[in-house]
Amino acid sequence: MLKGRNAVVTGSTSGIGEGVARALAAQGANIMLNGFGDAAAIEKLRAELAAKHGVKVFYNPADLSKAAECAALIEDAEKRLGSVDILVNNAGIQHVSPVDEFPTEKWDLIIAINLSSAFHTIHAALPGMKKRGFGKIINTGSTHALVASANKAAYVAAKHGILGLTKVVALETATTGITCNAICPGWVLTPLVQKQIDARAANEKIDLKQAEHNLLAEKQPSLRFTKVEDIGGVAVFLCSPAAQNITGIALPVDGGWTAQ
Ligand code: NAD
Repeated sequence: MLKGRNAVVTGSTSGIGEGVARALAAQGANIMLNGFGDAAAIEKLRAELAAKHGVKVFYNPADLSKAAECAALIEDAEKRLGSVDILVNNAGIQHVSPVDEFPTEKWDLIIAINLSSAFHTIHAALPGMKKRGFGKIINTGSTHALVASANKAAYVAAKHGILGLTKVVALETATTGITCNAICPGWVLTPLVQKQIDARAANEKIDLKQAEHNLLAEKQPSLRFTKVEDIGGVAVFLCSPAAQNITGIALPVDGGWTAQ
């Protein structure tokens, strides 16, 4: 379905971004991977996706906390892939702490990576999308784009912000063949969430299975984690013809979290 389309997926060396990159490549899209991690593991992922799906896959190590590197990532993708037709702004980090103890540098970093990077990549990619009359922009929001939790000030502020950005971009591009949407996952078992499970087990002096259960029971009525493959499938849907008139939405994939 996406044969010949070119996709940039930020934060795709792990977790949800990797799941989305795998799903887009399986549909025939060429991929620009981005994110941090072990060089050999990243090369293994790059080569595997290229061989398995017969698509071009490149890797760019841009640090998305820096505006110039966000723009350079898009420029590099346009050069090596030929265009950016699909842009998935997914890179993100977390820090958990009460507001009055929240380290200022963590606030700045989370706003930079989880929110501002999406502005910078969209800013760089939109002119090409407009020229070609085609673009699918998908931002990884979160249930925390819609509701809050204690101790996540920067994350919740950034995710609410990315939903605002999503809506503005959707309105500005409404007649141009470009859509811009946010996928809003609840709990997905990735390294970002595993850290929170580990912390919970240590704080509450319980084993990891019990910590996982408590984490889910507190927020996610399905009591099941969403799989990264599920988010990949939702991203593919948002790139499909059936979604041609879906723009500016927040799409929760959250086991009922935000229905409460
Ligand atoms: P993860 O830790 O598995 O992956 C994060 C990715 O972002 C990695 O590839 C990492 O290298 C990359 N990254 C981090 N800092 C970066 C930087 N400065 N520049 C470039 N890349 C950087 O986490 P994940 O759970 O897959 O999270 C991905 C996105 O999904 C985030 O935006 C997160 O907020 C969001 N999200 C996750 C969950 C969940 O339950 N896991 C729920 C809702 C939203």
